[in-house]
Amino acid sequence: MPVPALSEVIAALETLWPPQRAEQWDAVGTVCGDPAAPVTRVLFAVDPVQEVVDEAVTLGADLIVAHHPLYLRGTTTVSAGTFKGRVVHTLIKNDIALHVAHTNADSADPGVSDALAGALGLRVTGPLVPDPTDPSGRRGLGRVCELDPPLTLAEFADRAARHLPATAQGIRVAGDPGRTLRTVAVCGGSGDSLFDQVRAAGVDAYVTADLRHHPASEAQQHSPLALVDAAHWATEWPWTEQAAAQLDEISDRHGWGLRTHVSRLVTDPWTGRFGREAAPEAPTGA
Ligand SMILES: [Zn+2]
Repeated sequence: MPVPALSEVIAALETLWPPQRAEQWDAVGTVCGDPAAPVTRVLFAVDPVQEVVDEAVTLGADLIVAHHPLYLRGTTTVSAGTFKGRVVHTLIKNDIALHVAHTNADSADPGVSDALAGALGLRVTGPLVPDPTDPSGRRGLGRVCELDPPLTLAEFADRAARHLPATAQGIRVAGDPGRTLRTVAVCGGSGDSLFDQVRAAGVDAYVTADLRHHPASEAQQHSPLALVDAAHWATEWPWTEQAAAQLDEISDRHGWGLRTHVSRLVTDPWTGRFGREAAPEAPTGA
């Protein structure tokens, strides 16, 4: 079997997630790696953090494909005295390349929100924010989906808790738990900038991460939109399985024999949750 060079694997990944489709502010592409180096094993992960790089070393991976950028802005140092510099040192010392597909993977077809919708058993009907440059109308940010058969908010949130990887946050919901959901918008990662589009889509619920008080409160005041908020990492993790399967398919087509792995390390920064649960029906002070 022909062992591909890093440059060949990267070229294949860039057909899935063309770097020019990333947002302007984003930093996607190859962070480190020798284009001529052979690649036999690839690890997919959401976050290019030290624990994931250590996992790649243990696995003997030659390439990490991460969703989040290591450096979003410029840097003047990769000293191992900084935590990102230590990541770079570990990667280079162990001949491991790092490639990032971030907003170009969000808007891809299939993209991050397709993987999230799939994990939640939703049927995608189209993008929430269509990419105007896509004549097929399939690419874009977020997805609008149908829930068939319909579930109550409580049942759907329970499904999300069981089908997404477990995190300290779990699943937060806003809205009447008995409300029936038939249409759901999803956006993997931080989605509170898309409330206008969610309202315009006229869906019963919105699944995303990192919802802040004011946008969530205002969305509730506007319309009886149910909100389902999972940990940022958990909403994007399904993409790593989808992406690994996409590279497997490419590898089979080329006879590369690549071994792909998906990191199951929980790299969500939130690691605990304390406090009493407030009973929503109980009057305060009771
Ligand atoms: Zn993210």
